[in-house]
Parts: sequence; structure tokens; C-alpha cells
Amino acid sequence: MIIVIGAGPAGLAAAEAASRNGSEVALIDSSSRLGGQYWRHRSKVTGYRSNRADEIFAKVSAAQSITHISEANIWSAEREGNLIRVNYLQGGIESSLTAEKVIIATGAYDRTLPFPGWDTPGSMTPGAAQSLLKGQGVLVGKRIIVAGTGPFLLPVATGLAEAGAEIVALIDANSPLRWSLSPLALLTNITKFSELVYYVRLMRKFRIRPHFGRAVTTFANGVATISAVNSGFHIKSGKSQAMRADVVAVGWGFVPDLSLGGILGCAQRVDSDGTVIFEVDENQLSSQPQIWIAGEATGIGGADLSLIEGEIAGLAASGQKIRHALLTERVRKQRFANALKRSYPVRDGWREWITSNTTICRCEEVKSQEIKDSVSELGAEDSRTSKLFTRAGMGLCQGRMCSRNVSEIVSGITQCAVTDGERIAASNRPIAAPISLGQLSDGKNSR
Ligand SMILES: Cc1cc2nc3c(=O)[nH]c(=O)nc-3n(C[C@H](O)[C@H](O)[C@H](O)COP(=O)(O)OP(=O)(O)OC[C@H]3O[C@@H](n4cnc5c(N)ncnc54)[C@H](O)[C@@H]3O)c2cc1C
Repeated sequence: MIIVIGAGPAGLAAAEAASRNGSEVALIDSSSRLGGQYWRHRSKVTGYRSNRADEIFAKVSAAQSITHISEANIWSAEREGNLIRVNYLQGGIESSLTAEKVIIATGAYDRTLPFPGWDTPGSMTPGAAQSLLKGQGVLVGKRIIVAGTGPFLLPVATGLAEAGAEIVALIDANSPLRWSLSPLALLTNITKFSELVYYVRLMRKFRIRPHFGRAVTTFANGVATISAVNSGFHIKSGKSQAMRADVVAVGWGFVPDLSLGGILGCAQRVDSDGTVIFEVDENQLSSQPQIWIAGEATGIGGADLSLIEGEIAGLAASGQKIRHALLTERVRKQRFANALKRSYPVRDGWREWITSNTTICRCEEVKSQEIKDSVSELGAEDSRTSKLFTRAGMGLCQGRMCSRNVSEIVSGITQCAVTDGERIAASNRPIAAPISLGQLSDGKNSR
């Protein structure tokens, strides 16, 4: 049996590919529906080339050897000899499942940067605004500003507009001219132009105006400050304006979810943009035997790359031949993923947007000044020591949201670059999802 963790594009493709030779597959996901972050719609998947989702949903549903275990949140995993056991909570009951092989396709989550007001009602990530719309049919507000950086802002803004919101502004801190840094990636991924044209048409239809070189730097009582920023994200003085909105949806790309692979000891490395990702070989095999990893957990690259990586992992785990064309296609898509990183960097200038009173760790309510004091008054030299003094990153989310920001604030004061070891340590945690002692002590169902 092969356990596939995550039913997004990578996990779906992995399960489908592995099932082609009749391998038994358990496809586990914490959500009630197939599709992962991008295709988790209430009814039909909409958006650019949504037929890709229809095709893979149909194949996975038709495959007799795939069992979909939904609403199962895996909180830990362990090795038992040659087997791997995953422990999950489903409907408040702890269960476990054991298999010889595991494919991890746990995706990524929104990256946030703090700014004054980011923790007040009406401020959220674009992913949250989109999830509420796709998953629950809830439109988060009437007048919305979508901001941050990256192409993901386009489907969010146009999706919200289609649902009836007025997009007051679409704001990207980077310049589109940065794409000129990656001519080869553009030439070898020419189909991406049709995706751009698709969104530009929608933006015209809904009169959405993009603004570049700007960022939401404060939000209070329904008023956002939009500041002009330079390429380092430093605010240009005298060039700010106020905009009224019910909601600011601000996101800065994605953070790969490393929890489960980390618990199982899969090796990681720091990518060129500072994100921590898994090391995999050309067959998506991790550093650990019998564990393959695919999709955004091995680097942010979009749904198309996730589908290819998932297919390769599924074929490899089930012992099937991998077509050379699939490997070549992955190289092409990875080139585009690298261009995304070059085009939408997140620069350090954001550290100037925060005030001493800005909350950095929302779970433990730690303010920026407390982190600064932990360095200048108490002698913390890195984020780990600062965490011990302030509790930043010790709350329910275990630092998923704030740990990178804390490291970068500390590094800004000490003037010492964040080390790879520090980044990797901050990305790993001993359990993948919260579980109560009561649930643990109730005993478990095993398969
Ligand atoms: C919030 C959000 C919205 C996005 N919207 C768009 C969009 O509109 N357009 C676009 O082009 N790209 C979008 N992306 C990017 C897109 O999600 C990815 O390119 C693609 O879906 C990645 O596929 P994946 O299979 O690697 O991961 P995902 O699609 O993220 O799937 C991972 C799955 O693993 C599950 N999982 C994770 N951990 C556990 C666990 N411990 N137990 C059980 N299940 C677990 C998750 O619930 C999820 O279903 C979005 C990303 C995010 C984070």
C-alpha cells in the first residue's frame, strides 16, 4: 500500500499515477473535498484551464484501488521497521494507517508580513479570502484591496470581482519589468502568456486597476495606507495615499508545508528566496527510503509543476517506468518557477513598516518592541533565543506564520544574516497539527 498525503494537484496526480498498475493507494487529506488549496471548490472548479481538475478528479474517483480518506488531519508520523505509520484525527477520533511507502504532497500556505493593522478585523491573506469564497461561498467584503506580490493576486482579485466584490485596487510591490530578467523561462513557457491574457481580460471586464511598486503599509478602521516602495521595499517619502476598503487581502507568496516530512527526517535545504524546501532526487524520492515528496513542499512552482512532480512520484513509488518527456517537462516548469522567484522577491524593507507596537506573533501576542528588546536588552543573538525570551512562535501555529519574520527582525538588529540552519530549524516542528491530550488518551483505531 502507498499512502499519499494531500489531495491537491500533486497528491491527486501521484495517487492516479500509482493506481495505473493496480497499486493500492490511500489518499488522505484534511479537507472534505479533493483538490487541495487551488481546486477545493464547493461545486465545479472554475478559473483558468479548470478542465485539468475535472480530468484528474474523474480518474481518481474511477480508480478502484484508490481510497480517499477525507477530513483526516495527520498530526504525526513514525517509522516502524520497514513500515511508516501516519496518525490522524478524523471527527475527533485518533486513527492510524500503516504502509510500506508514503508520498508527501502537503503543499504550502500563504506567507504573511506584519504591518500596523494586519491583525485587525478586515485584514487577511488572499488565500483566506479565496478559501472562504471557494470553500464556503462567503464573500469577505464589498470593497476589497488585494495586495502583496506575485501572480496569485490575479486569480484572487478576479475571483472576488466575479463573485460581486469591488476590487478597489490590485497592488503589487514589485515591478512587472522584473520578468525581463528571465527571458529563457518566458520563451520556453509560452503557454503562460495565454494565462496572463485570460486574467488581463477579466481585469478589464471588472475594471481592476493594477498598481506596481506599492504596498499596504497600514490598515485601520477601514482605511489602508498605500505607500510607494522602492525595489528594496523601503517606503518612498511623500508618496502615500489613503484608500477606503472593507478588507485588505495581503499575501507575499507561499511557505512550503514541511511538517510531516520533517518529522520523518527528510532532508531540507534553503531555496534561493530563503524558503526551506525538501531535497528530492530526480524521481522525487526524499533522503529517507520509501518516502517521496511532490508539489509545493519541494518548492513553490504552481499547479502545473505540482501535477508533473506528483505523477513522477506516483510512478516511482509504484515501480512504473517514468517517461523521459515527463522529466523534461518538469525541467521546463522548474525554469518558470525560478523566474517567479526572481520576478517577485520579498525584500527586507518591510521591517520599516512596523512600529514598536505591531504584533509579530499573533498566537502569543508578542509585539515588535519585545523582540527588539530581547536582542538589545537581553542579548538574544538569533531568533531561537529571542523566542525563548518572548514566546514568539510558541503558540498554536507553532511559528508557522511568524518564525521567518522574527528571524528577519532579529537579523536586522544584529546585522547577522539568518543562517540556513536557523531557517531549517524554524520550519520544523515535532507535531504537524494540534491534538489534545484527551484525544490522545482516548486510544486509537488502527488499520
Ligand atoms: C490558500 C491558497 C490558495 C491558492 N490559490 C491558487 C489559485 O487561485 N491559482 C493558482 O494558480 N494557484 C493557487 N495556489 C497555489 C496552488 O495551491 C499550488 O500551486 C498548487 O495547488 C499546489 O499543489 P500541491 O498539491 O503541492 O498542494 P496543495 O494544493 O496545497 O494541497 C496540499 C493538500 O495537503 C493537505 N494537507 C497538508 N497537511 C496535511 C496534514 N497534516 N494532514 C492531512 N492533509 C494535509 C492540505 O489540506 C491540502 O489539501 C494557492 C495556494 C494557497 C496556499
